[in-house]
Amino acid sequence: MNRIRITEKHHADIYSHLFPGDGMEAVGIALCGKHFYKGNQTLLVQDFYPVPYDVCERTEDYIRWSTDFINPLLEKAQKENLSLLKIHCHPSGYDRFSDLDSESDYALFSSVHSWLQSNYPHSSCVMLPDGKLFGRFFHENMEEEIVHQFSIIGSDIKSWHYSDNELSVKSEAFKRNEQAFGKKTVKLLSKMKIAVVGCSGTGSPSIEQLTRLGVGTLVLVDNDYLDTVNLNRILGSNYTQALSKISKVDLLEAHVREIGLDTKVESFRSNLVNEDVIRAVADCDVIFGCVDSAEGRHIMDLLSAYYIIPLIDIGVKFDADGQGGINGLFGSVHYVKPFGSSLMSRGQYNLEQVASEEIKRRNKEEFARNQYLVEAGESSPAVISINMQMSSIAVNELLARIHPYRTLSNAEIDVIRSNFSEAITFPDELPESCPYFSKRVGKGSVYPLLNRLEFSINEKVV
Ligand SMILES: [Zn+2]
Repeated sequence: MNRIRITEKHHADIYSHLFPGDGMEAVGIALCGKHFYKGNQTLLVQDFYPVPYDVCERTEDYIRWSTDFINPLLEKAQKENLSLLKIHCHPSGYDRFSDLDSESDYALFSSVHSWLQSNYPHSSCVMLPDGKLFGRFFHENMEEEIVHQFSIIGSDIKSWHYSDNELSVKSEAFKRNEQAFGKKTVKLLSKMKIAVVGCSGTGSPSIEQLTRLGVGTLVLVDNDYLDTVNLNRILGSNYTQALSKISKVDLLEAHVREIGLDTKVESFRSNLVNEDVIRAVADCDVIFGCVDSAEGRHIMDLLSAYYIIPLIDIGVKFDADGQGGINGLFGSVHYVKPFGSSLMSRGQYNLEQVASEEIKRRNKEEFARNQYLVEAGESSPAVISINMQMSSIAVNELLARIHPYRTLSNAEIDVIRSNFSEAITFPDELPESCPYFSKRVGKGSVYPLLNRLEFSINEKVV
């Protein structure tokens, strides 16, 4: 499948250049990071360069421009291994490439390929007056393929699909979902691939809900085994399984399959610090963060920026004395989008915590390698009803982002907080962009992955 992901901000920049209001065609170039995973090729718009109107010959259905404009961009593309995306508009709403488009694309992309000697695709797209896009990839051998999916990621999550093979949806099972959200949203859910990082207290009810909403593919990530202390909150788990120490991802994968709604599942018995896991999660449309660690949250912030993926993070804080005294009980569901504030800039963790957790993890891994006993996870209070409520808020957050239904706009909500002691749940705005992650938006799969040295180890060994 060929995909293009664009941030809401870039989509708006592109729109305002291509539709200045004079009804004439206009053109621009975007440089894109890339991610290739099991036959899926994704281009990630990193920067947009408008071709100035005065170097173009523009009419209502025709544009000619001097390709001198792209020379400095080709140099940058070569240095940073980027794909080139040409994007022009059809003010008339004509929803196909014209013969003239094909002629000029062929000339442009043959020279781009021979200049860059690239073995990865470049792309040509057209924007229509309603902001929708369609397009095609030009591969190394100038073979042409359509773009199957465009995603615009911001406060709202928008996706347009162009695919001949419709997924079979067990429609009867999703009839009631359809009555609530309509066929279009149910179909969109069936085409989504969602990563759930952490498959315990908040992860397991999220997996249950995403499955029964008809999400097409789930990517499950957790390195832990089921223990009897988990039986108070993991759906589908039982005492026998806890005694046999089944892994949480195996248990939940089997559980999802037993539900029988044709949900595809890819599972990883691992934490996020693993190259294969990073590549799999980077292929997803949305990430659900259901872990309680600074390192996990940091890697998810990185994934969201590098690969332009919206992140929904669930947190629960239980302040109890262990004797039944409850001092405070809070939950939060954060929605993170590229160019917005991050979990880090919102104070959910800091880099010192990431560094100290990293050292702790390495020591544990060292212990495990030397066949010492791996310490049991630190035990903290956890209750199914609290976890499920926060997980439900998170899943409703996903629904609101793909199908806005609230009186507030999605742009006005960055986090939903619950204070169980006061029995209140309320939205909050945290609009200030995080500079640390904003400069990483759309970089895609660089070497080493996410610019973290530990992800280069495997390739160095080879
Ligand atoms: Zn055209």
